[in-house]
Amino acid sequence: MFNSLAEVLARLQRAERVLVIGHIKPDGDDISSVASLVLILRKMGKIAEGCIADDIPWFYKEIPGVSLIKSVSELRNYRYDTAVTVDASELARIGDAVKLLSGAKPDVTIDHHKTNTRFGEINFCDSDYAAAALAIYEIGRETVDYDPDLAEVNLLGIATDTGFFKYGNTDAKVFTYAAELVKQGADIQRIASAVLEHTTLNEIKLVVEMFNTLSLAMDGKLAWAHVSTEMLTRNNCTEQDTEGLVGQIRSIHGVEVAILFIEWPHNHVHISFRSKSYADVSEIALKFGGGGHARAAGCSCKDVELPTMIDKVIAAAKEYLAVAHLEE
Ligand code: AMP
Ligand code: MN
Ligand code: MN
Repeated sequence: MFNSLAEVLARLQRAERVLVIGHIKPDGDDISSVASLVLILRKMGKIAEGCIADDIPWFYKEIPGVSLIKSVSELRNYRYDTAVTVDASELARIGDAVKLLSGAKPDVTIDHHKTNTRFGEINFCDSDYAAAALAIYEIGRETVDYDPDLAEVNLLGIATDTGFFKYGNTDAKVFTYAAELVKQGADIQRIASAVLEHTTLNEIKLVVEMFNTLSLAMDGKLAWAHVSTEMLTRNNCTEQDTEGLVGQIRSIHGVEVAILFIEWPHNHVHISFRSKSYADVSEIALKFGGGGHARAAGCSCKDVELPTMIDKVIAAAKEYLAVAHLEE
């Protein structure tokens, strides 16, 4: 069973020096949850640092608080009494930040993934929460006064994990908390502009190449495409520039499951799954060692060949969809 948020809060109140860790391939919710929790803990009078092992995409840095997040090497000598992970479903998701734990379990984990493995001492996880940042807000509003910077970075995760208030997880709580954060000074337009309007010409060229690889099957319910290392380097892009591409595949009319294969680096394939209304893509991702949510999941496979992975995953997706469609 999971612990309550009250138990998490009681544990955090006892802490003096905290390390907050997010997941690799950071997204808006991850970045928001790390930065917001660090700011909340500092307002509570504690010493707190935030760490994400992978580089943070540049466009998030326009949002206040994001730049406080440090790399693993910057925090190598940081002493803490309490380690907290946020938005990570399993220990492997924190990547190299695991080195900072020196073999111990995190003291607290705060998450919202269906596939969470309860890898900490105290674990809060509720998949009814649209974003980990909602749980962070519930901690923050109990303990500190919000200023506009904290409100804005806390809203970032709520906005991004709900696809800017349009995915199926966008419930009344999302709007209530978002309204409270806007009242406290968060600028949603700045968040939207930073996250949604940063496309470069190179990325547009990459999108064109990606759509040239598009395939559809199962009466148009399944769509997939790939981005190879070669395509990325040819367009001066990196894996970071692929964020949002799988959403474009899902946006095709009639598509229920969208899958994007990203090869980066060579023979290392990350697979992003998205579904529109009924398929639980975390079930497909789990088969390949990944996980996630019903409508957004992923997995990463090392030392594999892109065409082989495409064949295997598409076969599994077809098998899943054949049954899911009948149950729908
Ligand atoms: P992505 O397609 O990379 O944006 O990931 C979509 C969702 O799947 C995210 O919410 C992640 O938490 C989850 N996810 C992605 N990659 C993995 C992985 N390798 N293992 C477990 N969960 C993952
Ligand atoms: Mn995340
Ligand atoms: Mn999340």
